Formats: sequence, structure tokens, C-alpha cells
Amino acid sequence: MANKIPTRIYLSEDEMPKHWYNLRADMKEKPELLLHPGTLKPVTSADMEAIFCKEPVKQELDDTTRLIPIPEGIQDFYRAYRPAPLIRAYYLEKDLQTPAEIYYKFEGVNTSGSHKLNSAGPQAYYAKEDGLTSLTTETGAGQWGTAMAMACAFYGLKLTVYMVKISSEQKPYRKALIEAYGANLIPSPSNTTQTGRKILETDPNTTGSLGCAISEAIETAVNTEKCRYVLGSVLNHVLLHQTIIGLEAKVALDKYGIKPDIIIGCAGGGSNLGGLISPFMGEKLAGKLNARFIAVEPASCPSFTRGRYAYDFGDTAKTTPLIRMQTLGSGFIPSANHAGGLRYHGMNSTLSKLYHDGHLEARAETQTEVFDAAVRFMKVEGILPAPESSHAIKVAIDEALECKRTGEKKVILFGLSGVGNFDMTAYMAYNNKTMSDYIPTDEDLQKGFSSIPDIPQNG
Ligand SMILES: *Cc1c(COP(=O)(O)O)cnc(C)c1O
Repeated sequence: MANKIPTRIYLSEDEMPKHWYNLRADMKEKPELLLHPGTLKPVTSADMEAIFCKEPVKQELDDTTRLIPIPEGIQDFYRAYRPAPLIRAYYLEKDLQTPAEIYYKFEGVNTSGSHKLNSAGPQAYYAKEDGLTSLTTETGAGQWGTAMAMACAFYGLKLTVYMVKISSEQKPYRKALIEAYGANLIPSPSNTTQTGRKILETDPNTTGSLGCAISEAIETAVNTEKCRYVLGSVLNHVLLHQTIIGLEAKVALDKYGIKPDIIIGCAGGGSNLGGLISPFMGEKLAGKLNARFIAVEPASCPSFTRGRYAYDFGDTAKTTPLIRMQTLGSGFIPSANHAGGLRYHGMNSTLSKLYHDGHLEARAETQTEVFDAAVRFMKVEGILPAPESSHAIKVAIDEALECKRTGEKKVILFGLSGVGNFDMTAYMAYNNKTMSDYIPTDEDLQKGFSSIPDIPQNG
């Protein structure tokens, strides 16, 4: 007999969300405004439009409009690979022998392999609307570069991707895929920018860093006609685009009258987690839903659980506006961790505010335990999870086992942000038991904190 609730809940095209949801509009206590690092006054759209496209800047600075229409041209893009399925984890529940109901929203069903395409599409669309001909960006682990390359191919834009040199060497398949989509991939640091040349002069054998790649991408965007820069996480307009995840999940759950008790997601810069929880958090803040929300981060890069709530730069080169967020300091360098997408020093400002005000919980998990959870999951659910996403799996399993202990029949929803097909080096390290579980000492963290700007706003 078929299950009452299907294993995969899909939406029809008619049921697809037509608006993104701006959670900030429903927050009585808003996240702090972005500051110009020179004047320490709130940034203006003119400041930001020198670097970013117009509509994303407007969305970034808008904390009052609840529903923001998804233009038809972006809905069209979404239809190419959405809706993403909401999956009832019947097999995992059985394996865990838990009374809990577990659901996950699976964002790996596109060639880029992750949720990042949900913001790459809109950002390429708005660039086209602005009459631009090209974009620049950076990529570390490679997921964002792939997503942007795919979106730019769709909308007919040129793209230059500065890929951290060490990743371009360690992940040749990511590089090949980005190039197959027609993007120009440049290992960073490079001699195409002043920043890159300067770094190469002092350290010709450097393996590169995300901070350096961001600086190179911004420099090229600013110096190129009809070109802007795009960013794949951290900022509020990215989180806004990612609310398609939570909105679809909510429509699917509502069809069966299911209300989640615990919502879990992994957090790097916060975009997939923020996108998943936004509509549910909105209900919670309005007193209509009694749910817990849990962010999961790597123990090697604990911006929530051990970070400071302070104004800081979004990049190591200190070129972005100042963002009040949970941060380890832009100078913090996390130890090598296979969840490349979670190796970021800061956190989205809205999520940071929710955490600071006690609406969002956070947990830090070590790598080996995260992979134990990943392997347990893939054996029964048939999906190879990305190392980043596996952080959410770990905590979902812990919560389901807690239900087994107490006998409570809770509804757990987690975000499976992507697939791990390009992460086999990580799985090899896990198989060979050569994976490191380094946790930064207080002294390591202190070094990072000392890079947080000493401004009056940081007390
Ligand atoms: C980039 C990435 C993340 C982390 O980014 P967020 O902005 O925190 O969502 C998580 N999972 C996957 C699969 C990613 O590619």
C-alpha cells in the first residue's frame, strides 16, 4: 500500500511561488544597516551600484517590503529545474527507528549541484536588465562559479570567474564544467589585476584565498565597461532569492497539513539556511508557529557558536561595506575542511540578528561525525550529499534519535543544499581515515578577532 504522504512531494507549475519573501519586513528588531567603511554612515544605493547591479542593491537595502515579485523572466529560469522535491525520509526514519517524521528539501537537482543557482539566475537576469554585457565573480569550492556560469550561459552574458588557485588545481572537474558553460576561468591570484600582481610579486607560490579572488573580481568589474560583480552568499538579496526554497517547502507541507517542529540547515554565509527558514520564521515571529530553528556550522569555522556580533568586512581584502554580523574576523583563516562552502568568517546579517535575539539556535559539528552522518544517509536515501549539506543531516539525525529516546513524534525539516559528486576527494579522506578534525583554539580565534575593525559602533 502506498504511503499516505508521498515520498516525494512535488508542486505543479501553478503552485510555484510568484514572490520572494523578505523576512526583514516582519522583524520588529531589524538587522543593522550596512555601513560605508570610510564614513561609517549607512551605505547608499549609489555607493553599492558602483559594484553591484541595480535591482539587487534595491533589494539589499529594502527592509520593509514583505513580498517581492519574481519577474516572469526569472520564473522562466526557475521552471528549467524547479520545483525542487520535498522528500519524506521514510528510509532514514526506518534506519534510525525514530518516531519522528523527517523531511528534506533537496536542492541538488540541477547540473550546478546546489541551491546556488536560485540566486545566480536572478543576478544574471538583473545584469541583462541593466544593459550589462559581462559579470565577474569569485569561487572557492566551485559551486558558485558553476551556478553563475550556467546562469550567464542562459541569459547570454560573458562571465569571468576568479577561482582560488589551489581549488582550481584540486577540483579540475569543477573547472572543466565552468569552462564548458563558456565562462573565462582565471586561477587567482593572477596577473590580470593590480591586486593579483602585487600578491604574486611578494609571494609567487601562493595558493590563493577567497579574499584575494573577491578583490580581483571587484577590481576587474570596476575597470570594465558594462560589467558588474556578483556575490553568491552572505548578502540579504542573495538570501531573498533563496527564499524560493522555504516557500516551495511550505506549499508542499501545507498540502498535507504538516507543521514542522524543528527546522535545520547548514550555514556558510547563511543563504540556503536563511532561504529555507524565512517563511517559517515569519510565522514564528507572528506567533503562528511554535518551531525551533537550528543552524549547523563546522567546528573548524564556528562563526555563530564562538564568533562575535560586530561590524566587520565581508572579505579579507576589506573592500565591502561593514556588516554587523556573527564573525570570526575577516582575517580568520579556517583550517582545511572539506566543506569548502562553509569556510567563511562571517554570517548573513539577518540570521546574525535572529541568533543574537534568541530566535535561532546554532551547533558546531566536527568533520568526521558529519561524514558518518552523510554515509548513513546515502546508504538508505540514495543521494550522495555535499559535505556542506551533511552538517544539516548530522543534526537532523541527532534530533531524530532524541525523539527515539523521549518517544516524541516531532516533525523535522532540513535543507539538503546540494550533492557531493564533485567532492570525492573528501570522501576519499573519510574512507582512508585521514580526515582532520582540527578545532581552533581560543588563541587561534583571538588572532581573527584582532582583525575586526576598531570603530565606535563596535563599542
Ligand atoms: C555554498 C554552499 C553552502 C553554503 O552557503 P550558504 O550561503 O550558507 O548556503 C551550503 N551547501 C552547499 C551545497 C553549497 O554549495
